Amino acid sequence: MKPPAFDYADPDTLDGALALLADHGDDAVIIAGGQSLIPLLNLRLARPELVIDLRHIDDLFEVSVDESCLRSGTMVRAADLEEHPSATTIPGLVPALSLIAHSQIRARTTIGGSVAHADPAAELPALLVALDGSVALKSSARGERTVEAADFFLGPLWTAREPDEILTSVTFPRHKGVVAIDEVAMRPGDFALVGVVTAYNVYAGMVADPRIVLFGVAGTPIRVTEAEAALVGAVPSTATFAAAAEKIREHLTPLGDAHASVEYRRNLAAVLVERSLVKNND
Ligand SMILES: Cc1cc2nc3c(=O)[nH]c(=O)nc-3n(C[C@H](O)[C@H](O)[C@H](O)COP(=O)(O)OP(=O)(O)OC[C@H]3O[C@@H](n4cnc5c(N)ncnc54)[C@H](O)[C@@H]3O)c2cc1C
Repeated sequence: MKPPAFDYADPDTLDGALALLADHGDDAVIIAGGQSLIPLLNLRLARPELVIDLRHIDDLFEVSVDESCLRSGTMVRAADLEEHPSATTIPGLVPALSLIAHSQIRARTTIGGSVAHADPAAELPALLVALDGSVALKSSARGERTVEAADFFLGPLWTAREPDEILTSVTFPRHKGVVAIDEVAMRPGDFALVGVVTAYNVYAGMVADPRIVLFGVAGTPIRVTEAEAALVGAVPSTATFAAAAEKIREHLTPLGDAHASVEYRRNLAAVLVERSLVKNND
């Protein structure tokens, strides 16, 4: 299929891109890696008058690291961040990147595109929620702002981004404990049927500040606080992890669809949470 006709612009400054976006409003769309947008255009689910390509804006390709976090420019490719020497300093980041689609798709997919697209089954949004990450946005009218990941993802393909804003960077905090990501998909490289990110610290032999974030089960990545509460103050053990998984079975009402029923997703989520916590404790 072919996309509808559109004008194309590839500005070489962020301000230039923001000005175009402000001028054209809802009639313009940003293209990053194009791995999600091009199918939407080809299926004519999007019919923009103008496509604004960010690939010549050098500032959006920077990666910086300090003692607390890694900040990735939004045009950094998933495959490039996966290979970046600092990526391994953020627990969970390289494993999450490696689960996105196939290597060919990761070679085009951008960090900002993955986050802006906000697919409910995507790995990076779930990791950001688990790590208390954040997203930086800029508009020509209001300048820069930062939105916490917990407030950014509002629904399927729906975020707190305003139409005149461009995502400029994504911040992945460095967790001091252990982080694991796991998922089950129909085939390797497919979006997850269910995925989980678990993270926790251990203080004085007990679990502290646990995070259990599920993806592929609702419109956004979700924290299951009942399961987290089962871990707080407990000794990390197979019994503790089984108790957390049981809370998933008691409290989770996932979406059901043609690929997986509600019951299947609920059980799979519980199994993945337990498996992920056990893996973290190895
Ligand atoms: C076969 C296949 C399997 C896939 N499997 C997975 C998977 O397992 N996990 C996963 O997470 N993804 C998966 N994807 C999605 C893929 O990773 C997408 O490329 C990604 O979600 C979007 O990134 P992109 O850079 O290609 O963005 P684009 O397709 O260019 O853009 C996507 C959306 O984000 C907006 N956007 C992009 N960048 C910005 C920005 N800086 N500021 C504002 N808006 C912006 C665009 O306007 C568009 O609406 C898969 C894709 C395919 C084709």
